[in-house]
Amino acid sequence: MSLPDSKKKPALAAWRCEFQSSADEQAFLHHHLVTTRVQLRFTLVICSLVFLGFNITDILWLGYSSQTAILAGVRLVVALAAIGGILLLRRWPDSIATTRLVASMAELISGGGFLLVTALRSGEFTLHAISMAIVIIVFYIYIPNRLLYSAAMAASCTLSFVMLAAGMGHLRPVELGTIATMLALTNMFGYVAAQRYQLLLRHEYTAQKVLKNLSIRDPLTGCYNRRYLHQQLLETEISRAQRYQLSLAVIMCDLDHFKLVNDRYGHHGGDAVLQHFASLMQALTREGVDSVVRYGGEEFLLILPETDLAGGELLAQRLRLALSAQPIVYQDQQISATASFGVASINFGRSSTSAHMNMITVADDMLYAAKNSGRNRVCSRQLG
Ligand code: GH3
Ligand code: MG
Ligand code: MG
Repeated sequence: MSLPDSKKKPALAAWRCEFQSSADEQAFLHHHLVTTRVQLRFTLVICSLVFLGFNITDILWLGYSSQTAILAGVRLVVALAAIGGILLLRRWPDSIATTRLVASMAELISGGGFLLVTALRSGEFTLHAISMAIVIIVFYIYIPNRLLYSAAMAASCTLSFVMLAAGMGHLRPVELGTIATMLALTNMFGYVAAQRYQLLLRHEYTAQKVLKNLSIRDPLTGCYNRRYLHQQLLETEISRAQRYQLSLAVIMCDLDHFKLVNDRYGHHGGDAVLQHFASLMQALTREGVDSVVRYGGEEFLLILPETDLAGGELLAQRLRLALSAQPIVYQDQQISATASFGVASINFGRSSTSAHMNMITVADDMLYAAKNSGRNRVCSRQLG
């Protein structure tokens, strides 16, 4: 169980337009993987159609010759590589690495193919410069790749193009200089546009995450709220435990005589105790595995996957001792607090009954048994 994510905004590295933490970046990339794949597939289809289309215009305008045959060969290779990329995406649809590889290969092969075509039709460099500008925009905007990779591909393709134009010697220096400057500007604007787009996507992702957290967590303690428990959490954990035939434990806990805490230290003092108890539960449970839910006012529910009754009891005892051992410091005052715990566990490997249906009720019954037998204690029961 993690602390409330709504309070953490992942930092962005502005120049490379990625989250600074690679875990955040991976989560973002996974979140967008389906869209990225669709965009990449679309670009690859258009890319192969454009390269094949130019074969037809070449033959129509230049007629058939050995040069048009070679040009056709080069373009066919690029189109086939694009189709190969589409097949790779279909073979490994969930792999970010494959998506990146296909995007980078698309840039490399189409850029290389384009340079070869320009070398073969070396008398038309002013026209090629327009195509080069389009290629740059496609690299930055339409091929969904890591921005650093797109920038490296676009810049090196531009540099090779200018060197090729200079080497072929068909352009006057002023034309060459103008083309080089315009292509450098195209790179710059392409980079800025891609940068804005990438940052926007990440800001939108962060805002969505913050909103999601706000809707599923309790603002005072950062624990999950009861709505999230009933809408998703409980069902997800029960069906996972059923599918893999695992144990599942729940602990219902309630602060003892909490009304007295409020009466003596005021509502804010009571709030401080609630926050302290919540952070104890968050600290003593497994991050990303266990869930802590604020079930009611001063009542919490813990959901513990792959935990048997003994494991649930052990955790409840640890929490009980941790809370009672140290008073909570609030405005120079020390507030002592205890809690009572009810534990219920079910082993889905042994039980195929519907015992889990009243798991929370049984944990609640155990909590009241703990209250009735003197408070500050743990009662438990195995289900099924
Ligand atoms: P028991 O040991 O039987 O559980 O006694 P109790 O006094 O803890 O139980 P009771 O249900 O009588 O009182 C719960 C109190 O919790 C009453 C309510 O005002 C208080 N409470 C509920 N939510 C909050 C909250 O968010 N902040 C504060 N400070 N108090 C709260
Ligand atoms: Mg209470
Ligand atoms: Mg209560």
